[in-house]
Amino acid sequence: MEDDMQTPGPGCRGLLPLFLFGLLLLFPAGCSSDPFLHKKGRNCLKLEPGRREGRINGTLVYLTTPAGAGGEVTGTDRKTVIEPLLSMTPRLKRPLRTIVIDPGHGGREIGAPGTLHQEKELNLALARKLRAELEKRGCRVIMTRDDDRFLPLNARGDLPGERDADLFLSIHHNSARDKTVSGAEIYLLTPDGVPSTNDPADSRPPAVPQAARSLWNDMILAREIQSRLIEKSGLPDRGIRFARFRVLVRSACPALLVEAGFISNPEEEKKLADPAAQQRTAEAIADGVDAFRNRAKIGG
Ligand SMILES: [Zn+2]
Repeated sequence: MEDDMQTPGPGCRGLLPLFLFGLLLLFPAGCSSDPFLHKKGRNCLKLEPGRREGRINGTLVYLTTPAGAGGEVTGTDRKTVIEPLLSMTPRLKRPLRTIVIDPGHGGREIGAPGTLHQEKELNLALARKLRAELEKRGCRVIMTRDDDRFLPLNARGDLPGERDADLFLSIHHNSARDKTVSGAEIYLLTPDGVPSTNDPADSRPPAVPQAARSLWNDMILAREIQSRLIEKSGLPDRGIRFARFRVLVRSACPALLVEAGFISNPEEEKKLADPAAQQRTAEAIADGVDAFRNRAKIGG
């Protein structure tokens, strides 16, 4: 019924630009009409109503507070999760050079027990491979321990400040009562006043003073590492999470704790102890650090 369609008269034409302008106000550039979709350039974060889980270009990330029914997020999540993940530009005062690697546990503290191995051994084996990979990429590496010795948490977490380091990476392997649980996850420090990912009741201030630094860089580095770790290890993605681990609280520079897989899962334990698999994981983490360094804006 084309004949019934009215062509706008000359008076209507002037309204078209106004209409388009109105649309622009409703949907500004870079925003989507979907309140659960946050996009900027190639970065796309998808949230879900009532849930803390989101996906940034496929990688799982947790909000500190579930998204609202209409896509509302807290100011903390906007500042700590959404804005850094959409920007992916680290802000550094100087070029990244010195990295502290912290192989978790040691000595009398074995960490999680596996069937064939102890967590402390796997942590040190992976940390040594990571050191070699980071050194190949031109980084200076300091280890909190390079043998089987006990070291208090405070000594580990204080080392980056004492040695004026640029990054802190704590290496661990996970454990669960359910022996089928599997996958890799990565932690950054929980911001003030909100609960940690694995402990929704914990929104108390930590017993030690919270780091007075922004978590902008920590979140970007976590994504660079986690996406590569999942791709190279082939393990399930358990996401970027928040915790008030003492070593993260005390670190003077961006700090992450990597849980590289479940030693409590007998099948996964075999993979985690395989030197070739450890090498792939070390390369994935080092590549993540390299990408972070290359994207960084220095100064300011
Ligand atoms: Zn551990």
